[in-house]
Amino acid sequence: MHYPNTLKSKLPKVGTTIFSVMSKLAKDHNAINLSQGFPDFKISPELSELVFENMKKGKNQYAPMPGIPELREELSKKIEKLYSIKYNSDTEITITAGATQAIFTAITAVIEEEDEVIIFTPAYDCYAPAIELNGGKPVFIQLTAPNFIIDWEQVQKIITRKTRMIIINTPHNPSGTILTTQDMLSLEKIVKASNIIVLSDEVYEHIIYDGKEHQSVARYPTLAEHSFAVYSFGKTFHNTGWKMGYCIAPENLMIEFRKVHQFNVFSVNTPMQYALSEYLKNENNYLSLPNFYQEKRDIFCNLLKESRFKITPAGGTYFQLLDYSEITDMKDTEFAIQLTEKNKIASIPVTVFYNTSPESKVLRFCFAKDNETLEKAAEILCQI
Ligand code: GLN
Repeated sequence: MHYPNTLKSKLPKVGTTIFSVMSKLAKDHNAINLSQGFPDFKISPELSELVFENMKKGKNQYAPMPGIPELREELSKKIEKLYSIKYNSDTEITITAGATQAIFTAITAVIEEEDEVIIFTPAYDCYAPAIELNGGKPVFIQLTAPNFIIDWEQVQKIITRKTRMIIINTPHNPSGTILTTQDMLSLEKIVKASNIIVLSDEVYEHIIYDGKEHQSVARYPTLAEHSFAVYSFGKTFHNTGWKMGYCIAPENLMIEFRKVHQFNVFSVNTPMQYALSEYLKNENNYLSLPNFYQEKRDIFCNLLKESRFKITPAGGTYFQLLDYSEITDMKDTEFAIQLTEKNKIASIPVTVFYNTSPESKVLRFCFAKDNETLEKAAEILCQI
C-alpha cells in the first residue's frame, strides 16, 4: 500500500537503527551476534518465578501512573545507600518502559523550539532524534578513540543563551569509558549558575570495572538538583526484552516529566514491577555485576591477545572496542558487514554514533555472552 498524499518526514535523515540492521544481518548470515547489546544467557530463575507468582496473585491490571510505591521505595533506598542522597519515592522517582522511554520523556518535557542540547559523540542513537522531534537542536562535541576524554573548557565555550541541556552517559556506550570525579566537578561548575538541565544516562551504573566507582550525578548535590538520571533494569538484571527502567529527578523536574509520561505510556508492566521490587531487596543481585562482567571482559580480551586487533580494555559497560587499523583500510561500516557475511561474526561500526563520520577504525563487540560464545567469537577474530 502507499499513502497517496504528500508526506513530510519529521526525521528525514533517520533510517533504521544500526542495532536492528546488524542483528538482522547476523541472523540472515548465521553469524555470532556480538552487535546489539543483549545477554545470551538466562535471567535468574528467582526473578522469573517472582513475575509468575505476581501474575498468579492477580497483579495484572494497570499500575499507578508513576509506578508501584513498593518499587519506588526500594529504589529510593538503593539510591540512598549507593549515592548518599534521598530521592522522595512519591515525587522524585518514576518507573518507565526502559531507559529509552525515560530519555524521550525527559527531553520532551523540557526541550522547546530552538533549544540547544549538547551531546558528546559517539553517542547512543536515541538522543538526537528525540531532541529534533521536539524542535530542539543537537550540538555535537566529538570525542576520539581510545580515551574519549571530554574537554570541559570546550564545553564551556560552546554554551550559548540557548543551551538548555547537556546529555552525559557514564559508563559510556559505545566506547566503554567512564567519567571521573574531576569530570563531574567540571560539569557541576558549568551548570551551577545556569538554567541548564543535565540528562544523565546511567544505564550501566553497575557494570564498571577495576574497582572504580560509578559517578552518578546523584553523588553531587548541586548536579543532582539540575539533573534527570535514567536507568535500565534490562542492563542490570539481564532482561533487556522486559523494557523496564526508571527516571529520578528533583520534584519540579519530575512534575513536568510525569505530565508527558502519563500520555506517552501512562504506566508500565505491573507484575514485573512487583517482581523487581522484591528482587531488589537482595543487594547482591546488583552488587555482583562488576565481578561477573569483568570476568567476561578479561576472558574476551585475553583470548584476543594473539589477534591483530588493538585493545584498550573497557572501563565499564559490556562493550569492547577493537581497533582494526592494522588489518585493513576499509570503512568500519563496510568492514562490519564483511565480518558478518564472510567471517560470521557481527559487531557495530562506531562511526554511526557520530553526526559526521571521523576517520575511525574501531568496531564495538558485546561481551554479555556465555563464555562458550566468547571463545567461539575470539577464535574467529584471531584468524582475521
Ligand atoms: N543498547 C543496546 C546497544 O547499544 C541496543 C538497544 C537497542 O537495540 N535499541 O547495543
